[in-house]
Amino acid sequence: MNSSISNRADDASFDVLNPSTGQIVGHTANMGNDELNIAVESAKTAFLSWSSLADDELKERCLAITKKIEDHSEELAKLITLEQGKPLNGLGSRWEIGAAVAWAGYTSNLSIPVKVLQDNEDGKVELHRKPLGVIGSITPWNFPVLIAIWHVIPALRTGNTVVIKPSPNTPLSTIRLIEIMQEVLPPGVVNVVTGDDKEFNLGAAMSAHPDIRKIVFTGSCATGKKVMKSAADSMKRLTLELGGNDAGIVLPDVDPNAIAEGLFWGAFINNGQTCAAMKRLYVHESVYDAVCESLVEFAKKIPVGDGMNESSILGPIQNKAQFDKVSRLISEAKEQGKVLLGGEPGKGLFYPPTIISDLKNGDSLVDEEQFGPVLPIVKYSNLDEAIRLANDSPNGLGGSIWSSNIEAAKSIANRLECGSVWINKHGAIQPNAPFGGVKSSGIGVEFSDEGLIEYTDIQVIFS
Ligand code: NAD
Repeated sequence: MNSSISNRADDASFDVLNPSTGQIVGHTANMGNDELNIAVESAKTAFLSWSSLADDELKERCLAITKKIEDHSEELAKLITLEQGKPLNGLGSRWEIGAAVAWAGYTSNLSIPVKVLQDNEDGKVELHRKPLGVIGSITPWNFPVLIAIWHVIPALRTGNTVVIKPSPNTPLSTIRLIEIMQEVLPPGVVNVVTGDDKEFNLGAAMSAHPDIRKIVFTGSCATGKKVMKSAADSMKRLTLELGGNDAGIVLPDVDPNAIAEGLFWGAFINNGQTCAAMKRLYVHESVYDAVCESLVEFAKKIPVGDGMNESSILGPIQNKAQFDKVSRLISEAKEQGKVLLGGEPGKGLFYPPTIISDLKNGDSLVDEEQFGPVLPIVKYSNLDEAIRLANDSPNGLGGSIWSSNIEAAKSIANRLECGSVWINKHGAIQPNAPFGGVKSSGIGVEFSDEGLIEYTDIQVIFS
């Protein structure tokens, strides 16, 4: 099953908008249950031969996909910018495609060896890993191609087939990505379905579908919980990468000027629309004013504009619902704290980088995941208090500690309740390090061999 991008609207399609201009950049199919069933059936049929390929063959096929994506880098980057809004440059769409190629290549080269648990006069016991079957992938709108790669490549590499459903806000780059993959794959191995989530919710139908063996979902905590409930009846395997409200903690021994750039990009990468962006900053009272000042000075220099403009480094907020949420949280925070930068919306969906100080836990901008270009700053006076405030959240994706004493910072790391802790940076990820959340931020991990095994079931053979 394949969705397609078209230039004309019809009854069974929906519009995709460019968030920088509000203009329609394409239309795509609004599918229902019939189309989903065709896609699942096609993946199920393809699984019979794909899952029986030798491990080396699967690796070669995944490397061929990687090469194809690399060949189409610029085309895919422009499509991301048009529908997602992020700039071509900076840590924008060209960066996203570069990362997608790096992840695809690294993951293609991984493999899971058979483990011999015992081999003696009592017999041999081997642990094998078997593919699950059809994997349902549901993705959000913030990194449409990179997250699709995080789901699809490990699934294929381990012998599974895939039905992917992108966010209705950013379906075009995923459709094109899957078309490119299909050029080097047998029919049915990867399939894309698209829907507008209005009268019919494709993601919900996928989560309940009896022939989908696993859902890999990246999105909000609220939707993740729905996926988990719908998946229960068919006992699906789940990987849930959900929302975060990451805290950064600045210790008294920092050089405020030296950390300003890292703090800024930790919070504002992709306009803050990043699961593991820094969404709350706790700064020790002795360096509070200096850290606020150097952060604001750095933020002032960042050019914001239409992503297709080569000089833009940050773009608009991706969609109206998100823009309204960010606007509401900033309005509320203006009553409770002090605006150091920004604070007023720009044209259309643009909102300039906004920094608000003098806030506290309990204020909505500190407690809720804003997922936008705004950072709340909280003053603290002792470290135990800062750690307690950082952990006082249902989420636990990432956290960071900023200090000139790396060993001291590391000793604080394990007191934070989150899946990743960064020292003097925030949000760095790499394909050889597992990534995932604790508490309400998710279940399971992605990346590395730890992520790969999540696409398999164990079979133990006794001989
Ligand atoms: P969302 O939960 O609204 O949507 C995610 C996907 O779920 C979309 O494809 C959507 O169509 C689909 N969906 C909607 N209703 C569904 C249902 N009932 N059942 C199944 N699927 C359904 O999230 P979003 O607004 O697209 O993305 C932003 C959120 O994603 C943020 O909370 C962010 O933190 C999170 N996120 C997490 C990670 C991570 O790795 N932890 C990465 C990126 C984004």
